[in-house]
Amino acid sequence: MKFHELTAPRIRALEKPSVLVLVPIAAVEQHGPHLPTGTDTIICTAIAERIEQRFPHRVLLVPTVWLGASAHHLRFGATLSAELESFIHTLKDIGRSLLDQGFRRLLFLNGHGGNVDPLHVALRVLNAECPEALLAGGSYWSVAAKVIASLLEGEHKDVGHACELETSLIMHLRPELVDGERVRDAGYLVPNVIDGLFVARDMRQRTREGATGRPDLASAEKGRRLFDGIVEALAATVERLLTEPLGTEYSDFVPAGSE
Ligand SMILES: [Zn+2]
Repeated sequence: MKFHELTAPRIRALEKPSVLVLVPIAAVEQHGPHLPTGTDTIICTAIAERIEQRFPHRVLLVPTVWLGASAHHLRFGATLSAELESFIHTLKDIGRSLLDQGFRRLLFLNGHGGNVDPLHVALRVLNAECPEALLAGGSYWSVAAKVIASLLEGEHKDVGHACELETSLIMHLRPELVDGERVRDAGYLVPNVIDGLFVARDMRQRTREGATGRPDLASAEKGRRLFDGIVEALAATVERLLTEPLGTEYSDFVPAGSE
């Protein structure tokens, strides 16, 4: 089911606590010299739509939030960014709208690294307001970390930016948007960690031209296998979220006999 394709009476008639509302959150920002700026939005939307098709009566998909928190890309240009505060407000506004009308299972599916911190803040605020709801959120690459690591060939076995993973996925989903002549090894990635400390550095400080890892190792076939693997992993998680108990107390979650 797609929220924006249903009439109000049909949405009001839903068995709301048993429906999982899927909110894709992404971004439009520079993706190196070879990928479109809408890379995160294209990938995250495609995954979310496939999940909706797998659970047509139990998942309610809302339109993708395309404006992400991308201040760390702004100095490269070709970027549209929300302030962290306004992004947190947007997520809280969407969450409250859904909770106020009786939905109790929300999954914010993220496709952009800069959204992770504000997503956690928004979910913490919503939890304090509505503890009886299941408020889940995270990135598709976290849910599918195992299959992603098994399919990537470069040294980096995780998502980067305009990297082997994202380039392969766009080659699979929208090959006509890739500038194949500009795909190359992204070179050294300046770390954002020193001795376990997070160090705030933007993409101009960390990358040569706004990409990371080995986009030159990407292929459409690898993208197809990655996409299918990500959807499989996420589908298993969605099953879990659909049956996870709702409650406000410890005893609501502890399996019988293990208290
Ligand atoms: Zn991004």
